[in-house]
Amino acid sequence: MSQVLYEGKSKLVCQGPREGSLLIRYKDTATAFNGEKKAELSGKGVLNAALSNRIFQYLMDHGVETHLIQVVDDVSVVVRRAEIIPVEVVVRNLAAGGFSQKYGVPEGTLLRNTVMEFSYKSDALGDPMINRSQITAIGLASREELQEMERQALNINELLCRLFERMDIRLVDFKLEFGRVDGHVILCDEISPDSCRLWDMATEEKLDKDRFRRDLGDVLAGYREVLRRLDDVLQTPESE
Ligand code: UDP
Repeated sequence: MSQVLYEGKSKLVCQGPREGSLLIRYKDTATAFNGEKKAELSGKGVLNAALSNRIFQYLMDHGVETHLIQVVDDVSVVVRRAEIIPVEVVVRNLAAGGFSQKYGVPEGTLLRNTVMEFSYKSDALGDPMINRSQITAIGLASREELQEMERQALNINELLCRLFERMDIRLVDFKLEFGRVDGHVILCDEISPDSCRLWDMATEEKLDKDRFRRDLGDVLAGYREVLRRLDDVLQTPESE
């Protein structure tokens, strides 16, 4: 395996095969609550790689620029080496999780408009929430980059809501990360049940990492169900 540059909570980042690239390997580790809860879930890496790769490819087919270059094997991808902007962008369609707790809004409440939140990506600081003026004031991103991240996040939300709806899944909320490449902003990291809340539309069953956070049973059974439905939908033309 090529040289490991960085080991994250759920991925290994290695030297890529050519200049300007990285090799990313998905791990089986599940973490929550800033790493306080941790487990090895055999097969999670394969599932998340499959899900994220399909979702990124779908977004790319719909004009979204991402870091994904090539799928190497069932846990590895080659991506563009971007300078990660240390701001996590959370998009919410329904109230859940931290939002419900903080503002006393019951989980599942439909929000009257799409909510966008930012947090400063810093394990040492516990990823604190941060607002636009704070982001630009301390130089995490420029005003233009921030606007671009917001524009892309809203577009991605529309595309993904439509995709998941076809899978009878409600996209409750999700987290995105962006990076800089050649002076512009592209989508990086992953989109998977680790970074989204996905509820079955009929039963409201949680098919995402809340199964792990809240001990709701077989975690990967939810991920497998999302992959099964995604594969079904991706084989059907969009108008159907
Ligand atoms: N999320 C994530 N990584 C984080 C924090 C949040 O992927 O470090 C995702 C999370 O899975 C959910 C959305 O962002 O889909 C909103 O999370 P929330 O702020 O409610 O987080 P919680 O407080 O529940 O961890």
